[in-house]
Amino acid sequence: MSLHKDLLEKAKNSGLRRTKALEAILTCLAEHNRPMTLSELTSCGHLAEQCDKATVFRLLQRLSDKGMVRRLGFHERAAYFTLLVPGVHRDYLICTDCGSIEAIEAPCPVHKLEEEIRRETGFVGLYHELEFFGCCPSCAG
Ligand SMILES: [Zn+2]
Ligand SMILES: [Zn+2]
Repeated sequence: MSLHKDLLEKAKNSGLRRTKALEAILTCLAEHNRPMTLSELTSCGHLAEQCDKATVFRLLQRLSDKGMVRRLGFHERAAYFTLLVPGVHRDYLICTDCGSIEAIEAPCPVHKLEEEIRRETGFVGLYHELEFFGCCPSCAG
């Protein structure tokens, strides 16, 4: 099953009404496969003709309530949204000055800890995503 189909199925199962706008947001996030700002999403081809910023924001809110989308970032004007995909995890580096965000490429050391927590608590389906904050080279320069 494609990621996109999975997502729509999951959205349906969590009680979200399948609208053109919802489909467009999921398509957009899945295709870009990186955190996107509200403005980027709103101006993305799939969404541009569908709905306004407020609608997109409301849907993103709802998707994050359902654990399908994660909101990242330091401040309001530089909030990013990214899909939460089971089995896929990313850790991020965020600049507290300009709000830029990038995925960390280095291997993640937290998986071992995750395994320990799983053993100790009996939680299943554990996942994590980390945000590291700091000042990016161009802001620091
Ligand atoms: Zn910066
Ligand atoms: Zn990690």
